[in-house]
Amino acid sequence: MEQSAVQELLARLMALESDVRYQAPASDGEAEFRHQPGHIPVLLSAPHGAVHRREGRLKEEDEYTAAMARLVAKRTGAHALYVRRRSPTDPNWYRDVPYKQRLREVIEQGAVRFVLDLHAAAPSRAFGIALGTMVGESCPHHRQAIIRTLEQGGFRREGQGIDRLDVDETFTALGRAGQETITRYVWEGLHVPAAQLEFHPCLRVAERRADATSSVPFHGDPMHIARAIRVLVDLVQLTASS
Ligand SMILES: [Zn+2]
Repeated sequence: MEQSAVQELLARLMALESDVRYQAPASDGEAEFRHQPGHIPVLLSAPHGAVHRREGRLKEEDEYTAAMARLVAKRTGAHALYVRRRSPTDPNWYRDVPYKQRLREVIEQGAVRFVLDLHAAAPSRAFGIALGTMVGESCPHHRQAIIRTLEQGGFRREGQGIDRLDVDETFTALGRAGQETITRYVWEGLHVPAAQLEFHPCLRVAERRADATSSVPFHGDPMHIARAIRVLVDLVQLTASS
């Protein structure tokens, strides 16, 4: 990818992320999350786009996952659902939350046949992307092709650092006791195959914003961000056609 195209991609991500306020709760008349309609049967979900609350504690936003979902959706025709204001709950933990209700409506109305749920991993993680499929349960017929697509995109199980692909080890999407992940809800509750993807900050943060929970200035690696977007586009096309 040419330098100018990469710069354009980063600018696009920043523009799409600007719909999100990490720390601010939705005020009157504002939507806490938003559906960006698509026309193919795949949905990209970003349930931690802003700060959220789990078991009484505030958890930091998954920076740029909303922008990634929106950009890849625009490029492929997929649906995107993303959180854009601080949430009093955690859709990747609790059952029967408004985000999951909206997710169900979008899946039913759009006849969605696959959900990719996007998350942020901490900078200390020794992988670029972690794929969680409930150890194969949440997308039995797609899992091998998803792994192959990620590996063709430059993220390999035997890779090093942010080029490494973690498969159902660090983040399985099974969840802990009492947790209902988005992936589990979509597969077990709606009988639609789903997979969770966790991205290292180097693969998603175009430029850390002033309202981010972390005050340490940071930006990811432009070429890796471009690769992450490209592989997500490939995954949408794969799951739309299979
Ligand atoms: Zn998350």
